[in-house]
Amino acid sequence: MVDTQKFVQTIDELVHTLRELADSGVRGFDCAPESLNTLESWGRRRRPPRHSQVQPQPQPAESLEVIREDIGDCQRCQLCRSRTRIVFGAGSPRARLMFIGEGPGQEEDRAGEPFVGAAGQLLTRIIAAIKLSREEVYIANVVKCRPPDNRTPAPEEIATCSPFLRRQILSIRPLFICTLGGCAAQSLLGTTEPISRLRGRLYGYEGIRVLPTFHPAYLLRNPEKKRAVWDDMKLLMKEYPYEG
Ligand code: URA
Repeated sequence: MVDTQKFVQTIDELVHTLRELADSGVRGFDCAPESLNTLESWGRRRRPPRHSQVQPQPQPAESLEVIREDIGDCQRCQLCRSRTRIVFGAGSPRARLMFIGEGPGQEEDRAGEPFVGAAGQLLTRIIAAIKLSREEVYIANVVKCRPPDNRTPAPEEIATCSPFLRRQILSIRPLFICTLGGCAAQSLLGTTEPISRLRGRLYGYEGIRVLPTFHPAYLLRNPEKKRAVWDDMKLLMKEYPYEG
């Protein structure tokens, strides 16, 4: 019996590795004849399945550019009225780790970039502490427009915006998602459990491992919670496929 989740995860890791090799200049492999035979046999046409056995074929991932274009000058919910700029997301489209926050604040709304204010600076330090950079990860939010007065996004705003976040996640297909704060964890995992109960262990979303942790803005107000976030990051680091 094939463990589909494990299989998809293995393929994801393989694709990431091959892309990175390609990025670093590797242009091909010297395959032994036996290996080529095996690979060829995978591509051979099989007997067409009976109608009832037809499996849905995986769709090729769409690019982040296509998703951004689709969002356009979004007027789908009331957040468009008070925003300055749509904050789509930033980082590597091939990230193995994605951070998801709640929604842009004042500085993000002005800059059009996620996590550039005080909480963002703390997030940058957290990313550095786990031996990664902002350029290597991808950062996005549950909603792409700033909620007035930094209020929590309303359920209908989340429902309107989350299909785009979902498409971003499926485009990037990271190995890990780290949700920041209760809103991101709850909307991704479809739960109302508080973040204090959710954090500290891994969950799944479309075969991607999800680690909920506290929001950096909450850490700025409650520095004693930094230890818990560091424990979460250690959990992530134990599983993260660092090179070398
Ligand atoms: N808080 C968030 O949740 N997201 C940002 O981009 C900035 C602050």
